[in-house]
Amino acid sequence: MRRLTEKKLVIASHNQGKIDELKALLDPLGYTLATASELDLPEPEETGLTFEANARLKAVAAATAAGLPALADDSGLAVDGLDGAPGIYSARWAGPDRDFPMAMERVHAELQSRSPYNPQARFVSVICLAWPDGHVEYFRGEVEGTIVWPPRGDRGFGYDPIFQPDGHDITFGEMSADQKHGWRHGQDEALSHRARAFKRFAEECLEG
Ligand code: IMP
Repeated sequence: MRRLTEKKLVIASHNQGKIDELKALLDPLGYTLATASELDLPEPEETGLTFEANARLKAVAAATAAGLPALADDSGLAVDGLDGAPGIYSARWAGPDRDFPMAMERVHAELQSRSPYNPQARFVSVICLAWPDGHVEYFRGEVEGTIVWPPRGDRGFGYDPIFQPDGHDITFGEMSADQKHGWRHGQDEALSHRARAFKRFAEECLEG
């Protein structure tokens, strides 16, 4: 496992929800951060067939273009009753206008059309850290939960209002940012898929 030696990193994302969550996790560790949007880096097409492949595409493109280590997250919602859909296509189900009310409606409608009705689901995040020389490391985080209907809560982003993590009676959309993805170095537990992947990344790649 290669460790990060400099406190400078590019967040290889144009998704403000993800950027905010990753910044909140990295800021307390004293990192100087630039995002792919701020550096005007192109958004590579996500042609991979796995979360790992798409995270790698984004991280390597940003690291190569910026000449700095870059961190990308590829994530999505996998619903058991939909054979794992939307999965790597989670962003694409919302269309070019990122219409998540429509995407959530589709999850609900497709679930209802299947028998047996199985709303068990998980959010998956794969974080890829890439260096300008092409070296990569991966970190995966998952959180189990249930699809609920109607959507509840207007916090968070994407599919948060229809995802209720196991052991909780509120959705990600009803949680504060800190409850959903808060995590500090040295802390045992993290809730969200991204915070869990980030915890692995921080423990294995960061100094102190
Ligand atoms: P991608 O990783 O850029 O392909 O996009 C992942 C998509 O998965 C996002 O656009 C959201 O639709 C969904 N997603 C990933 N993480 C979350 C989350 O924490 N909450 C809600 N939706 C998420």
